[in-house]
Amino acid sequence: METKSILIDNVTILGNGIKKGSVIIENDKIIEITNKGQKDADEIINGEKKVLMPGLVNTHTHLSMSLLRGLADDLPLDTWLNDHIWPVEANLNGEYCYAGALLACIEMIKSGTTTFNDMYFFMDDVAKAVDESGLRGMLSHGMIDLGDEEKRKAEFKETMRIIEKCHNAADGRIKVALGPHAPYTCSEELLMGVREKANKMGLKIHIHVSETEFEVQQVTEAHGARPFEYLNEIGFLGDDVIAAHAVWLSDKEIEIIKEKGVSLSHNPASNMKLASGISPISKLIESGVNVTLGTDGAASNNNLDMIEEMKLAALLQKVNMVDSTVLPAEKIFEMATIDGARALGLQDEIGTIEVGKKADLVLLDMKTPHLTPFRHPMSHLVYSANGGDVDTVICNGEILMQNKELKVLDEAEVIKLAEDSAKELLSKS
Ligand SMILES: [Zn+2]
Repeated sequence: METKSILIDNVTILGNGIKKGSVIIENDKIIEITNKGQKDADEIINGEKKVLMPGLVNTHTHLSMSLLRGLADDLPLDTWLNDHIWPVEANLNGEYCYAGALLACIEMIKSGTTTFNDMYFFMDDVAKAVDESGLRGMLSHGMIDLGDEEKRKAEFKETMRIIEKCHNAADGRIKVALGPHAPYTCSEELLMGVREKANKMGLKIHIHVSETEFEVQQVTEAHGARPFEYLNEIGFLGDDVIAAHAVWLSDKEIEIIKEKGVSLSHNPASNMKLASGISPISKLIESGVNVTLGTDGAASNNNLDMIEEMKLAALLQKVNMVDSTVLPAEKIFEMATIDGARALGLQDEIGTIEVGKKADLVLLDMKTPHLTPFRHPMSHLVYSANGGDVDTVICNGEILMQNKELKVLDEAEVIKLAEDSAKELLSKS
């Protein structure tokens, strides 16, 4: 294979200790970080007045739901799901999911996300979009059986089909996880089947847990235990589990989450918009739990901007605790990068800017009024920036966007495809 090199020259590098230097990429990896003058490379990117950060990691989303953006707002979660989202989802097909995923991939590239954890349907079509976009993703087929044995068998069959077809695809950028939807939509048999497969195949598990207070009541009535207690009792939990939301937690559940090494995906925008509640993340982090960040789908956010999500996470927790010192910018940044990578088991490959790691890198343009004066890049990133400040994106050593110009996918074409698909999908419902 021919070697390809990129030099990002004279840039401010965000990480544990902020420094000025140059980063050299060879093929898919970072091979050198130096402050010793100019080096040569096939492609040289001038990093002056720019900040370089690791690509952001969105640990909970539903890409194809981008087609449902703005479809139903300002409603309680159960009405939103039962009367609006699920009826439309009943008419989904692979083409629609592909179109929605392509749209989401472009949105993620343009706002600095290079890795995401997705749960939805028609995941081989989603994988096709991810492959074409150049992004890195963990995909899971969302499994729901509502206690029905036939449905359960069909869900495992589809999950196995996706694993066989997509796991480690796109030069290893795509991984497949197991995706039981939630403890109130999945039977114990399904959950235990998932645990067994995860153990046997070494795959991650992506699940929604304790998003609403109502869900906690439902699970408590059905099983005589709160959701995380119930999942612990049946032996479902482990350090391979990524639980999204985790809003309603007892002290005992926090203890269980910590003890089992479960990673959480905090989704502040979705939780606020659906008025689900406030996850006690500062308490969780203090207890040693790995708390990461996710946007959830664009139907309940209503975008996939992880930079915006960082700010929301910080502000929500500060006002919730009536303590402005909780969750400083540095911690929020870790949640959106290395902590997310850890949840996905990719901490040795991505999440920080280090020699030997994959070149998943994002440059932010700091020459804009709302990021001036250029004095505290971490603070600017979390509190002042937004996805629109992303200038250049590299994933797996490939330049996906440069100077705000996409190098992959045709944006106008994808927007048209998404518009047409959304219209057609809605007309069927
Ligand atoms: Zn979700």
